Amino acid sequence: MTNAYIAEQLEAFASLLDLSDAGYYTSRAYRRAAETIRETKAPIAELVAAGRVQELRGIGPGIAARLRELVETGHIAELDELEREVQPELVGLGRFLGVGPKRMVEIGRALGVSTADEFRQAAREGRLTSVSGIGPQTERRLLERLDRELRPERKGLTLNRARALLEEMADELGGEVAGDPRRWADTSFELAVVCSAEDAAPVLEAFAGLPTIVSILERGPHRALGVTVEGVPVEVVVAEPARFGTELLRATGAPHYVDALGELPDEPSEAAVYAQLGVPFCPPELREQPFRGEPPELLTRDDIRGDLHVHTTWSDGKASVLEMALAARDLGYEYLAICDHTPNVRVVPGLDADDLRRQAEEIAAVNEEVAPFRVLRGTEVDIRRDGELDLPDDILDELDWVQLSLHAGQREPREQLTHKVTEAMRHPAVRALSHPKGRIINHRPPNALDLERTFEVALETGVAIETNGLPDRLDLSGPEIKLAIEAGVPIVVSTDSHSVQGLRNMRLAVHTARRGWATAANVVNTRPLAEILSGGRTPGRESSARSRRRG
Ligand SMILES: [Zn+2]
Ligand SMILES: [Zn+2]
Repeated sequence: MTNAYIAEQLEAFASLLDLSDAGYYTSRAYRRAAETIRETKAPIAELVAAGRVQELRGIGPGIAARLRELVETGHIAELDELEREVQPELVGLGRFLGVGPKRMVEIGRALGVSTADEFRQAAREGRLTSVSGIGPQTERRLLERLDRELRPERKGLTLNRARALLEEMADELGGEVAGDPRRWADTSFELAVVCSAEDAAPVLEAFAGLPTIVSILERGPHRALGVTVEGVPVEVVVAEPARFGTELLRATGAPHYVDALGELPDEPSEAAVYAQLGVPFCPPELREQPFRGEPPELLTRDDIRGDLHVHTTWSDGKASVLEMALAARDLGYEYLAICDHTPNVRVVPGLDADDLRRQAEEIAAVNEEVAPFRVLRGTEVDIRRDGELDLPDDILDELDWVQLSLHAGQREPREQLTHKVTEAMRHPAVRALSHPKGRIINHRPPNALDLERTFEVALETGVAIETNGLPDRLDLSGPEIKLAIEAGVPIVVSTDSHSVQGLRNMRLAVHTARRGWATAANVVNTRPLAEILSGGRTPGRESSARSRRRG
């Protein structure tokens, strides 16, 4: 790692600090340190390793700590985080183009653009030279780099939108949801509705007349491909009633699952197709890989006795404890765990120990009102940058349900991230690990967390692993849940809802767990309240707390 590179990173950090209004003096200190590092003849990385970097002019303990992080991990986690906060797309594109964060945001302002796509468009339209400081030569260099940029991946429709779109359409046409959404895929590319009718024409007419369909791209005697107002292609297939099951199976996919079944007989229902084939009926969620065996009895929504991850107005939720409790009771649950954020999250309000004790009074009052339904005192406690939990032990021990989350530092290297998360899981109060891979579907790739290692520690400690029902998380995903279950790790199926309506995302979490072959027995929140409260973790919690606590 060269001095020039290290100086650049500090300057990038300074620019981001400026953008986030962190204060002039802080960013100036980083700029001066960058200057010093550029002028220094000795390799900074070696000085850092030898613990001597503070001997340089202008490098205090704060900057020295960041330098150590940079040299040891290749990253400054806070810099990554700031980039996300401050026009992350533009800053990210700027990094690719070789333009510093502050300058990139300046250019964005001058062009009146705030996203990477808008920037690309402005560049293609030849508007870059309208920005002061960009001449034809710089423009040419930027355009060349933009050309080399990988084309962004095609984005699929998220599960909640795909299901809502097709369910409404199927309703209006009297058909069945098919394609990727019938398998509850995280994102959908193939969307289809299959209808049963002797005469296809009126159904195809009705399809073309739906308010969501803006144009018909292709039309055959028994099918049509339309495009929605959002530009999403949807196929409608009209099957003669005698072969509806066959068409539904085919349109549900996945293609290589269907291919592996061989030639499909014409049958009115899917059940009849499977019976003819001599293959046990396969739930759509399992139709990803060729499979002809007897599937397990998968988890259903009715098996779920409570939601163990919801937020309230105490942090960034939209509903009160009482409103969430009443809504959960209406859904037929027995319990609900309030898991608001802790202060380390920063972008939204977080609760410290005092807040949690005040919240306990509110929860106790609500419990009197909703009994025998039970609101549990919980937290979604952050794993801090230093690996410590963001609440003191005494409050963690008071709570009914502690789950652990990582909200920053998702780009840390595998070893470091895995070590941090698995060490945090060893805290005796922890009951579950939330959204372990940290992905935001279509926006942020999964982090590098080593799941195999995480599952080993989960088995050792009894910590459950969540599948999170937020439509842009679904984390763990189906295939990852399958690995957890094969390893013998218990699963929590939760919504992470921030509103009363959000509680309904339980079906997304349940179907994602089904894609991971989960049965009710694999899932913690299919168990009665008494079992949740008794911990499932070691009964000698007090003594194990002391022996397992880290120094
Ligand atoms: Zn979270
Ligand atoms: Zn949450």
